[in-house]
Amino acid sequence: MKAYHPPEPFRIKMVEPIRLTAREERERAIERAGYNVFALLAEDVFIDLLTDSGTGAMSQAQWAAMMQGDESYAGARSFQRLSAAMDEILGFRFFVPTHQGRAAENILCSLFIKPGTYVPSNMHFDTTDANIRARGGQPVNLVIDEARDPQSRHPFKGNLDIQKLRAFIAAHGPDKTPMGMITITNNAGGGQPVSMENLRQVSQTYKEFGIPFFIDACRFAENAYFIKLREPGYAQKTTLEIAREVFALADGATMSAKKDAIVNIGGFLAMNSPTLYQQACNELILREGFPTYGGLAGRDLDAIATGLREGLDEDYLAYRLGQTAYLAESLLAQQIPIIEPAGGHAVYLDAHRLFPHIPSAEFPGQALAVELYRQGGIRAVEIGSVMFAHPDPATGKMVHPDLELVRLAIPRRVYTQSHLDFVVKTLTEIAARRDQIHGYRFTYAPEFLRHFTARFEPVGDSVRI
Ligand SMILES: *Cc1c(COP(=O)(O)O)cnc(C)c1O
Repeated sequence: MKAYHPPEPFRIKMVEPIRLTAREERERAIERAGYNVFALLAEDVFIDLLTDSGTGAMSQAQWAAMMQGDESYAGARSFQRLSAAMDEILGFRFFVPTHQGRAAENILCSLFIKPGTYVPSNMHFDTTDANIRARGGQPVNLVIDEARDPQSRHPFKGNLDIQKLRAFIAAHGPDKTPMGMITITNNAGGGQPVSMENLRQVSQTYKEFGIPFFIDACRFAENAYFIKLREPGYAQKTTLEIAREVFALADGATMSAKKDAIVNIGGFLAMNSPTLYQQACNELILREGFPTYGGLAGRDLDAIATGLREGLDEDYLAYRLGQTAYLAESLLAQQIPIIEPAGGHAVYLDAHRLFPHIPSAEFPGQALAVELYRQGGIRAVEIGSVMFAHPDPATGKMVHPDLELVRLAIPRRVYTQSHLDFVVKTLTEIAARRDQIHGYRFTYAPEFLRHFTARFEPVGDSVRI
């Protein structure tokens, strides 16, 4: 069956030119970049699928709202409008705006984490992971086992394993667990959703042990629509009702508004506890700004208020998840291996299965990311050994991650069906000459977060089988 791309529930009123450069220009650009796509200039990229964060297209309503931004230092009307949207959708008693999601995480971690404590979740996103570690805490990922099987079609592959959670708390003690989290959808695990039933059980478990429960809500709207589509009893509920039901289970939430609120910058930390809110305000004033703007301009708050509502629009969400599924199904039809099923915001290519002749030590995901650029000017991100391989502290031997992936993240309301068809065509061409594609080795690699700044060289042009 041919994959179906839903018609966009919008039309285009302003355009941003993009250009597919000549093959020789791309060869020179990627060589100059040390074969690292993070070092490419955006103007040399044709279709940019590096991230869906802050790369969405704002609507006419958002741009119009920005013109009404109230830039008063304290008590701005923009803050009141954002408060109204927050009350309507999240329903927490308090919130503070922040400049990004990680700033909200930093404040939350400063209030809860002591050295030697643990924070369980399904899977922490890398900024959350790093913020917990930066305070001496230990992030713990307890996602269900199906999440690690690329071909399992479990409908809620982002679920947190309740047995593992109970066993973990029993083993370490609730006093060593100052807070619990869950990420919806599970970004680090392929953008896979979490079911309402699982959220309810997670909430009950944390409550039973007196552990405050915070949701990393970056993609709460996509998660709500997955619940509506896949979970019995939710087909008739609106995504707003589902979102409210989710947030009612938690004590608070962090969010990067650059995701489901479809803005270019912004985030927030929300909570019910008045004492926590007081403490958060003190941290905020120190690091971000006054509690009614939190490091953002008034106009940014208006864009978020409008974007939070637009992100829950069901015509938009049907198109959004339909578009990602279209890309996934079109790739499967060409025998391009991916993580199944499609996530909400991205499709993950399985470079191990596409390039079985390239060993992990020669970075098959990096090779695929480079080929996507050389062949079609497409930028994507490696999520494999470049990002995660590390030497075993005991033996010094390299430990490679289970999966060698390349993420195609889909910016919101930006690319059309023909762009995605071009991505599929490009990958089909790459697959057809896969035997001639070789691996890479580092010429420079920093110790931490090396994927951002590492440089590479090709391992050799010989055909390797
Ligand atoms: C993007 C993201 C964050 C961090 O947000 P920033 O705005 O990039 O700081 C945290 N959690 C998840 C799940 C994310 O996708």
